[in-house]
Amino acid sequence: MVELDDLMEFELGGRPLNGQGRTPYGERFIHGAVMEARPEINAVVHNHAYDVLPFGLTDTPLKPLIHTASVIGEYIPLWDIRDKFGDATDMLVRNMEQGRDLTVALEGNTCLLMRGHGAVIAGKTIKEAVVTSIYLMINAKIQTVAMAMGNPVYLSAGEIENMTNVQFSPLAMDRMWEAFCLRAGVKPV
Ligand SMILES: [Zn+2]
Repeated sequence: MVELDDLMEFELGGRPLNGQGRTPYGERFIHGAVMEARPEINAVVHNHAYDVLPFGLTDTPLKPLIHTASVIGEYIPLWDIRDKFGDATDMLVRNMEQGRDLTVALEGNTCLLMRGHGAVIAGKTIKEAVVTSIYLMINAKIQTVAMAMGNPVYLSAGEIENMTNVQFSPLAMDRMWEAFCLRAGVKPV
């Protein structure tokens, strides 16, 4: 539902630069804190994809097992807001202190799960962050099915590295981006 005119700019600390009376996005501190700590990151996605959530509720790690999902990275940490901020929160990331604590848990990884809430995906570009978010959800779906059938075989470190290079190269990225844009009803850019 977001249109170009809806976009708002913020300082890293969350202060709107072009508010114009609009209500800012509440969890903007996730994005500011990750970008503050990771200069190579230019796009941060936060979502509540249902298929991913069970992996943030159990001790079963979410790990890449299909080649297209190599981009989610070998290790996906879990962050629980309750560990540091107790049960007096509404579980939303409401300030930079909470955003920075989440960022410490993310470390140098690409994805992070938030207990009972959602996921955070850090990308060098908007395209990388969007593609990684989509395949995080698809991998979660397939891993759930595979685990119901038996013990899945996961990607190795070498496969993750090699396939990530392919996914983020024009060979794969241009095709994925065109397909995703068409499905979203927007012109590929
Ligand atoms: Zn959220």
